Amino acid sequence: MKILSINAGSSSLKFTLFEMPEEKVIVSGTFEKIGLLSSIYTIKYNGEKKKKECVINTHKDAVNILMSELINMKIIKSYNEIEGVGHRVVQGADKYSESVLISKEVCEDIIKYTPLAPLHNPANLIGIESFQDVLHNVKQVAVFDTAFHQTMEESEYLYPLPLEWKEKYSVRKYGFHGTSHRYISEFLKKYIGKDAKIISCHIGNGASICAIENGKSKDTSMGFTPLAGLMMGTRCGDVDVSVIPYLCEKLQISVTELINKFNKESGLLAITGVSSDLRDVESEYMNGNARCILGLDMYSKKIVNYISMYNTLLDGAEYIIFTAGVGENSPIVRELVCDKLKVLGVQIDKDLNEEMFGKFGEISTSNSKIKVFVVPTDEELMIARDTFNLVKE
Ligand code: ADP
Repeated sequence: MKILSINAGSSSLKFTLFEMPEEKVIVSGTFEKIGLLSSIYTIKYNGEKKKKECVINTHKDAVNILMSELINMKIIKSYNEIEGVGHRVVQGADKYSESVLISKEVCEDIIKYTPLAPLHNPANLIGIESFQDVLHNVKQVAVFDTAFHQTMEESEYLYPLPLEWKEKYSVRKYGFHGTSHRYISEFLKKYIGKDAKIISCHIGNGASICAIENGKSKDTSMGFTPLAGLMMGTRCGDVDVSVIPYLCEKLQISVTELINKFNKESGLLAITGVSSDLRDVESEYMNGNARCILGLDMYSKKIVNYISMYNTLLDGAEYIIFTAGVGENSPIVRELVCDKLKVLGVQIDKDLNEEMFGKFGEISTSNSKIKVFVVPTDEELMIARDTFNLVKE
């Protein structure tokens, strides 16, 4: 059965076509700069990459091009071969604790939760509607970033604020990257043959850490929005909220403008003054750039803080997993973090750590009290699995 996995952003659409249940990637690609002057799309098939520039006005146009390309490239003979389309949806609030078949009600809820995810939910819905327009009868599935964290207890997800704000305005911790943390949890369960106490560190441009027990999220570092928690590429993570009115007055800007700066002009970018891309920061760090040394020190300390906290929450973690762009590819960050965890009995093998780029493997020594692994995440596959399971019924 052919299943499409879709991640639609405001001006982009990423896709992967899987053969399920074999979990084989047939073709993947990205449409970028949709609605802008000149759009680009890239399709990866059979080890080759096809790149084309053209005008793509809407997401629906992108879906039409994608389907025509699949026919032209002889990947499918007819549109009917696509039996399910799964979509990443960022915010499912406390109604959705798992993936669901998309109905009118689900679409209405995605709109309803837009105030909780103004940048993402509208774009995710446009992706859904575009496929509805082009593939009229295909079953579609919503896979929520927040769903995995719905197992958090009240004492973890509530903020110490007046309770009626939670009831009236839905103010609480939701957590994000749930599809990735769930993938890590399921991957490890398959690998070791049982559930374990896991600290899953999804460190990419956006970053979050999740404490997992019995395959369930117990707590996670992101909050009401993906701005909370760790220091990230351009996001500040946790800061004292009292700086908000203070800075708005000093800078003579609105709260919205300041939050935009917290999201886009902070984190590694702000501290290093070099880049939000860790590769650039690392090369300057190696050259002895003082701000990059400071940046990576702060970056790794925030990760260590959450790992230490979740080690206590889990009453002793068994596994620390590094995943996503930085987690999978940066021996420097992994070493900076693990060296600060010696007090927990964490020991990594420096050679193994240096070798581990974007592939699965252990980097801890045999006498490390907590095992440390690198596991490449695969959110697209998780979306395809959920879609296949709901569509085949
Ligand atoms: P997101 O999905 O949040 O946009 P990714 O998980 O793709 O982010 O991670 C992007 C980050 O991963 C970037 O900061 C990038 O620098 C970092 N990264 C990718 N490859 C490497 C590498 N080889 N070494 C260090 N960092 C890397």
